[in-house]
Amino acid sequence: MIKIEDLSKIYSGSIAVDGISFEVKEGHIYGFLGPNGAGKSTTMNMITGYLAPSYGTIEINGYLMGKDTDKAKKNIGYLPEIPPLYPDMGVREYLAFVAHLKGVAKADRKSEVDRVMKATSLNDVSTKLIKHLSKGYKQRVGIAQAIIGNPKVVILDEPTVGLDPEQIIEIRELIKSLKGDHTVILSSHILSEISATCDDVLVICHGRMVACDTTENLLRSKEQKKILNLKIKGDKEKVEEILKTIKDADKVEYVDKEEEAVLFKVEFAKDKDIREEVSFALSDARLLILEMNEELSSLEEVYLALVREADEKYEAELQAIRDGVDLDEIYKDTETENDNSKEPSESIMDNDNKEEAK
Ligand code: ADP
Repeated sequence: MIKIEDLSKIYSGSIAVDGISFEVKEGHIYGFLGPNGAGKSTTMNMITGYLAPSYGTIEINGYLMGKDTDKAKKNIGYLPEIPPLYPDMGVREYLAFVAHLKGVAKADRKSEVDRVMKATSLNDVSTKLIKHLSKGYKQRVGIAQAIIGNPKVVILDEPTVGLDPEQIIEIRELIKSLKGDHTVILSSHILSEISATCDDVLVICHGRMVACDTTENLLRSKEQKKILNLKIKGDKEKVEEILKTIKDADKVEYVDKEEEAVLFKVEFAKDKDIREEVSFALSDARLLILEMNEELSSLEEVYLALVREADEKYEAELQAIRDGVDLDEIYKDTETENDNSKEPSESIMDNDNKEEAK
């Protein structure tokens, strides 16, 4: 449905989007996730034809943006972060105006406005002025204008920002109801937003695609770790010193203090078990374990680990550029270390899902 290849956007020397490629399948809801400044809005503005790419191609339902631009745009409905609403217009009046702008034939306009008002549950406020609507209802009108003309693809930029919890649930339900008739891409910098609504996740960081997969596959990726939660009687420095001697511990994190005890989290690879080593090391140091339990890291933690890894890679590259080191040199070492020369988005996919993802 959407095919993006090597898409880049350069703003006077700074790279906002850096050669991303991905495909979007028909009828799914995709979450476009990344920290602030990652390049989400820039990518969406290029997909919707509002912004010309510096490089790369965008194909929507078989039409190339930049070549068959009008046809490609007809297949897309867009709700920008700030909805393009006219506050002094009534809801129906505004939607009829949008239908006119989008080139819906005059004879079909009324039925098209009826259809979208029903789909977005706006019938009760049909004559109300937009400026008198609640934020949640304004967002409904924003989504209604995006689906006028029945585009195959609907792109929503941060659609629940600024809404209260009840409105968020209503808008999420509305977005889910678009699935099937439309392919939806929605952006957010909050993972819970994406995991509540989407089938697939695209993660972008520093303008680069870090992951493109289902939430289940992300959870099965190498980024998912085991976490040992510990409550230990003793002082923080001593406990930390011992935990840092554990061979397979990837990360030791102090969490909190509770009366005479300290709480720690120890992260390690999910094919390992460090409980025995931790128990012996702490008892040798005469430190008493009050509680110990093991869990798998959550999707949130997997996402944060992906972003952290992308940040570190980006910082290393900047440093290499400052030091005048050839970038190929810094990757040669990592490739021989773990034979992980694949792109990050590829390396996190399970082999059995790669064909499907293509
Ligand atoms: P996100 O939507 O993920 O928060 P954006 O796409 O808005 O990220 O921005 C990506 C990067 O591009 C940021 O570093 C931002 O400062 C930069 N950027 C965005 N728009 C412009 C612009 N018009 N001129 C220069 N830099 C821009």
